[in-house]
Amino acid sequence: MRYLWLDEYLMNKRGVTKDFQPVWNWIRYHIGGKMFAALCLDDAGKPYYINLKLDPMESEFLRGQYPDILPGYYSDKRCWVSVRPDGAVPDSLLRNMLDQSYGLVLAGQSKKARRAALGLTACGLECAACPLHSKECPGCNQCNGRVFHAPAGKACPLYACAVHKNHRTGCGGCPHLPCALWEQVRDPALSDEAFRASVSARLENWKGVPSNAL
Ligand code: SF4
Ligand code: SF4
Repeated sequence: MRYLWLDEYLMNKRGVTKDFQPVWNWIRYHIGGKMFAALCLDDAGKPYYINLKLDPMESEFLRGQYPDILPGYYSDKRCWVSVRPDGAVPDSLLRNMLDQSYGLVLAGQSKKARRAALGLTACGLECAACPLHSKECPGCNQCNGRVFHAPAGKACPLYACAVHKNHRTGCGGCPHLPCALWEQVRDPALSDEAFRASVSARLENWKGVPSNAL
């Protein structure tokens, strides 16, 4: 196979997991438990197709342009395609197709499921890396934003704004990001420098999320 970067590229996407399906001999890549790409292997372990999901119109167009892009093998042929791993599809195009597949499958899930799949809070923190996770706080996704520092019986103002009011996956993609509310709900224990670092980290976390899933 000529796309030797493929596994690392996919595993570097936020929230991606992979497994091996022994009956089909496929390495499957998932986001939120849903497959968005697969490497189909022959009995000798050599890839013979890369399967991924596309918008049906895009799929039809690309199949017309590249003989190495075929209707999805063992998949819904309208929105899945199979790419020959030793064909002439340019690397940049395949990367773009894989990005689209990841975005489509993520965007097809509920916003709560997207946050869980991405491991992000509504404001973009990585819950699992938070020292309070599972001790004082179950994570904003689990308690619908009613985290310990939120007003009694209410959601954290960032969660309430992003999820309840604006119906977003989170603050990512909001034109006001980071808005004045971020400063208002800032952890008082944080120095200015630590707060700025926290804002930058959250902005960075949203960067890997496709715009259609924000
Ligand atoms: S305080 Fe709670 S919601 Fe916020 S990052 Fe930590 S565990 Fe997640
Ligand atoms: S205005 Fe935008 S950035 Fe601010 S809390 Fe609401 S969704 Fe987040």
